[in-house]
Amino acid sequence: MLDVAIIGGGPAALSAAVNCRQRNKSVCIFGRSLDSSLLFAAEKVDNYLGLPDIGGEEMLNRFYAHAVKNGVEFKECRIKQILSMGEHYMINADNEFIEAKTIILAMGLSKSKGIPGEMEYLGKGVSYCATCDGMLYRGKKVAVIGENEEGEAEANFLADLCREVIYIPLYQPVVNLKETVMVKEGKPKAVCGEDGRVVALELDGEELACDGIFFAKNSTPPESLLFGLQTDGKNILVDRNMATNLPGVYAAGDCTGAPYQIAKAVGEGLVAALSAATEIDRREREKK
Ligand SMILES: Cc1cc2nc3c(=O)[nH]c(=O)nc-3n(C[C@H](O)[C@H](O)[C@H](O)COP(=O)(O)OP(=O)(O)OC[C@H]3O[C@@H](n4cnc5c(N)ncnc54)[C@H](O)[C@@H]3O)c2cc1C
Repeated sequence: MLDVAIIGGGPAALSAAVNCRQRNKSVCIFGRSLDSSLLFAAEKVDNYLGLPDIGGEEMLNRFYAHAVKNGVEFKECRIKQILSMGEHYMINADNEFIEAKTIILAMGLSKSKGIPGEMEYLGKGVSYCATCDGMLYRGKKVAVIGENEEGEAEANFLADLCREVIYIPLYQPVVNLKETVMVKEGKPKAVCGEDGRVVALELDGEELACDGIFFAKNSTPPESLLFGLQTDGKNILVDRNMATNLPGVYAAGDCTGAPYQIAKAVGEGLVAALSAATEIDRREREKK
């Protein structure tokens, strides 16, 4: 079992990882490609102490090299679900299940706006992961809203389980859908529910009756990753130790709110790592 699993891949995640290794903890970063970090897009960074006039890509490569040199593992994937197992957590990394004692969330700024009803019906018909929740919709009718091609894989997976799958692409072109999946164009407006369950998706002016709605987004809302995680709008709520409301779960960087700056992300990554290490050591002492 890993000591610390870090979800992200930008400065906050890399700083947290280096500092976990300094405390001799095993650590793996579960992140998307380095070029998905906001820092990659920065042509020039001039306000990071000691490294004036540096390009964002070069800075990120240096952070990454530092982490690898310190023995940090990196698994390139998008995490869609983390399950609490009581004393520890289980991470679903592209259907490989990895256990970790503590979690550091460093997913950057959430760009996901969501539609009315989406969060209200999360876990009551709304899902962000077909492989995690698909079985609950066996023989039922579902809609899949895809912001990118990953939505096609989700719809194809559900097509083998569900009575009917309707795919609503928010991009073009759609390239790889099974014949049994029906494509419908339109802009999703709201998730509609009755008696605490999803009953339909409002699509432009029309109500599309369905039992479940799966979202494949470019950016996953943090509260959909980890059930019960407290947020304030799009920011994860943390205390001064970067601890969230969930035991053993910490957050760092842009995902905790403004200012959206590298120095803050790196500093918060350090604090989150120290807090995670301290918590692991405390539990070890208690066991003895
Ligand atoms: C054009 C531009 C210029 C900037 N210039 C400056 C500057 O000069 N000075 C400064 O201080 N700041 C600057 N910034 C801001 C700075 O880049 C960010 O504050 C910083 O990158 C935040 O780091 P982070 O690690 O919190 O998030 P990010 O760097 O955004 O990294 C988050 C990572 O997590 C990954 N991720 C998200 N969800 C998941 C998931 N579910 N599973 C796996 N991985 C996931 C993302 O793909 C991404 O790789 C600039 C930003 C931009 C866009």
